[in-house]
Amino acid sequence: MQRSRHSMEELSVLLAYAHPDDEGFGTGGILALLADRGARLTLVCATNGDVGEISDPALATPETLGQVRQEELRQAMAVTGVRDLRFLGYRDSGMAGTDDNQHAKALMQAPPGEVIGRLVEVMRETRPQIVITHDPTGGYGHPDHVTICRHVTAAFRLAADPDVYPEQLDQGRQPWHPELLYYVCFPRSFFRRMWQYLREAGIRPPFASEEVEALGTPDDEVTTVVDVEPWLATKIASLNCHRTQIDPQGPFHKLPAHRLHDMMRNEYFTLVLPNDAGADADLLGRLAPAAARKPGLS
Ligand SMILES: [Zn+2]
Repeated sequence: MQRSRHSMEELSVLLAYAHPDDEGFGTGGILALLADRGARLTLVCATNGDVGEISDPALATPETLGQVRQEELRQAMAVTGVRDLRFLGYRDSGMAGTDDNQHAKALMQAPPGEVIGRLVEVMRETRPQIVITHDPTGGYGHPDHVTICRHVTAAFRLAADPDVYPEQLDQGRQPWHPELLYYVCFPRSFFRRMWQYLREAGIRPPFASEEVEALGTPDDEVTTVVDVEPWLATKIASLNCHRTQIDPQGPFHKLPAHRLHDMMRNEYFTLVLPNDAGADADLLGRLAPAAARKPGLS
């Protein structure tokens, strides 16, 4: 993709995640950056996070959590400046191995062709050049993250084919070929640094030092680092809208502010390069100051 082909106002970016709040830590800054520069942003959230944690029983009950989390995401996107927010309405499948996996309305039980069709439809309508989603491991293996990554990747490859979901074309939508697919990731060095910061602060890390070596994405597979420091305040304000998901007693929240900011100021991606892409294809990477793109990923 040649940069001159897309001014920011012409740029359309589609982000698709499994739960309300999945957007925040990995892409909250880049959403604010792109919104600020006038890009068109669409966020698709596949479930309402119905079976997530409830930080404070005053905020929600298991029965109301899905609705409450929808509203939290609406507020978070209002803070960030994302106007086009769409819920697919599937049920949260819960953590791997739980009974919620089997629920008839769970995302992981939905027919793949149905979910892919809905994603293709959004792509044909919003015509994104860039698509961003979870990485194939789902970050930490959440079945909904893995599922939505698989379906978004399939939709990315199919949206341009007029023989696929042809009934959508009768409704005025045209086949669309998104150019770049990015997976959100966290490099292994990120977890090493987090472990160090927690130990330094006298906080017991939620994982052992030897486990760190298996967490996240190997650093050499991370293609793109975006320094979002100027948008950090917006990112944090947006994350704070997800009140049911914030555990002030959690280890991460006990870190000193400067350490927490250091963990949040860079956002990391793996660019899944299309075959016809040139060396300058990494559009998100070129949004970052040069220093943040050098090896070492700090
Ligand atoms: Zn999630």
